[in-house]
Amino acid sequence: MIGAAAPVEGAAPETDIVQAFQLERDAVRGRMVRLGPLLDDVLARHAYPPVIEQLLAEVLTATVLLASLLKYDGVFTLQVKGDGPVSVVVADVTTDGVVRGYAGFDRDRLPTGANATPRELIGQGYLAFTVDQGEDTERYQGIVELEGAEVADWMLHYFAQSEQLGTHLKVAARRARDGAWRGGGLLLQRLPEDDPLRKQSAAVELEDAWVRAKLLLDTTAEVELIDRSLAPNDLLFRLFHEEAVRVWPPTLVTRGCRCSSDRVVRVLKTLSPDELGELRDETGAVTATCEFCSTVYRFDEEEQQRLKVTAED
Ligand SMILES: [Zn+2]
Repeated sequence: MIGAAAPVEGAAPETDIVQAFQLERDAVRGRMVRLGPLLDDVLARHAYPPVIEQLLAEVLTATVLLASLLKYDGVFTLQVKGDGPVSVVVADVTTDGVVRGYAGFDRDRLPTGANATPRELIGQGYLAFTVDQGEDTERYQGIVELEGAEVADWMLHYFAQSEQLGTHLKVAARRARDGAWRGGGLLLQRLPEDDPLRKQSAAVELEDAWVRAKLLLDTTAEVELIDRSLAPNDLLFRLFHEEAVRVWPPTLVTRGCRCSSDRVVRVLKTLSPDELGELRDETGAVTATCEFCSTVYRFDEEEQQRLKVTAED
């Protein structure tokens, strides 16, 4: 069921949503993402410095935005790696809308002050998207060098480099005065020529419409992307009411992790005696912590025997 975007009364509910929309006259599809509790939940599981929280919040928002464009049955992962103080940022989204993420960084190399750009934190590096649709069938969607200062710049460079359709987007995340995190993103993408929803308009008209839609997106202030008092429908109506914007019902995303004792045991069984030794404490117990959710898995010596994770010394 779809309907025309129109203003609604009252503040937007505090939820984590993806909103699909379409600019009917322009052969352009859109996605809007609003995240709140989800970001709080992910970040509360870590004790990251503010610059890292900011970076991860933006990457999580961008990941949900990009995943919402794809049809897949499995896990969509976005990974950024570089030679800067932050060596890695990972976020993933399952088909069911379950989201998680973490960052790996060198605390001693982090810049002082809170004004470092994402690029200054990551340094020289690359962005990779993968879609994993089952065991042992990881498929790389794309990999591109980092270009530009902001997370949205990296995404735009990816779309410009790949043979994808014309795409424009904005991403923002901020910690509000009440301490809660808010993330927001908007993405526009031209429909493929064979898309049934695409109107049969002249190419030049479609080109003009695409340029106009991109300009409208550019007028969006960062605060509009994340402002809880501005409902997604209201923002879409404000921006695109002359483009005959139509909206689909929003879908929910939630935080969650797929780690489990069984998965940790499987990983431990692949480790060498030396690697396993490094995880062993003075009591002989092996401890492993999930990077995504910080759940600690501890196996004492007896359990290691039972699970056969004790490496041959
Ligand atoms: Zn976990």
